[in-house]
Amino acid sequence: MPELPEVETVRRGLAPAMEGKRFLHVETRRKDLRFPFPAKFNQRLEGARLNHMGRRAKYLVGELSTGEALIMHLGMTGRFTVAGKRPGKFHHAHGEEEKHDHVVFDMQGGTRITFNDARRFGFMELWKTDELGEYPGFKGLGPEPISNEFSGAYLEEAFDGKKTPVKAALLDQRVVAGLGNIYVSEALFRSGINPKKLAGAIRRDKLEKLAVEVRKVIEEAIAAGGSTISDFGTPDGELGYFQHRFRVYDKEGKPCPTCAKPIRRLVQSGRSTFYCAACQR
Ligand SMILES: [Zn+2]
Repeated sequence: MPELPEVETVRRGLAPAMEGKRFLHVETRRKDLRFPFPAKFNQRLEGARLNHMGRRAKYLVGELSTGEALIMHLGMTGRFTVAGKRPGKFHHAHGEEEKHDHVVFDMQGGTRITFNDARRFGFMELWKTDELGEYPGFKGLGPEPISNEFSGAYLEEAFDGKKTPVKAALLDQRVVAGLGNIYVSEALFRSGINPKKLAGAIRRDKLEKLAVEVRKVIEEAIAAGGSTISDFGTPDGELGYFQHRFRVYDKEGKPCPTCAKPIRRLVQSGRSTFYCAACQR
């Protein structure tokens, strides 16, 4: 499943091809993806100019000249190509066939943008831009992990009195938006915090460090072209680029890069957590 850094990388790839341009022609080759396309989807887009391509959590949000926003989600296997090229340096083992090209945007200036989604868990929605706060996917979402709002002070307030393990607290979308399992493991390792530690019991200086490391791990993954874990373990072993940089994620039994003791794995709320019991307290 594409994680936040990959979605951000896709946003950065789409922005120059779409911003300031009108949709000349929109083609949907099915009635639905994960959900049906909105009524008159093509007509509502054609002629509209895309003023800004933004992102909220793992949603791409294109603000249109019509007062509506085009909300797009990659689901499990959704990917865009821009004039035949894909933004980001990802490796995917499946879903490249043309039969999975479900949406085509022909933009002013002649750039063709194609959305391919083999498993069709992705979706597209149109929503009034000034009512985006009411969009179900955005309601109650915490700050973006790479925004200024996300800080040690913010975490201290968000974690106040919380008796859940910090790992679970960081995966709660109301605390921070779009931070996935991989990045939580990595950021906790880098900030020396044991994933089992109760969120409300972590000192402010540790929370400052945690906020910094969350931002750094996400930004490094964006710089590396996103991370793709979806094909991990497939027989052909194609891996996302950033995976080579993980310090603890999926490294059970391997030596900790700091102290060389074996990395442990633990299951918390159904998700694997990887950590070093010696370095993380
Ligand atoms: Zn260690």
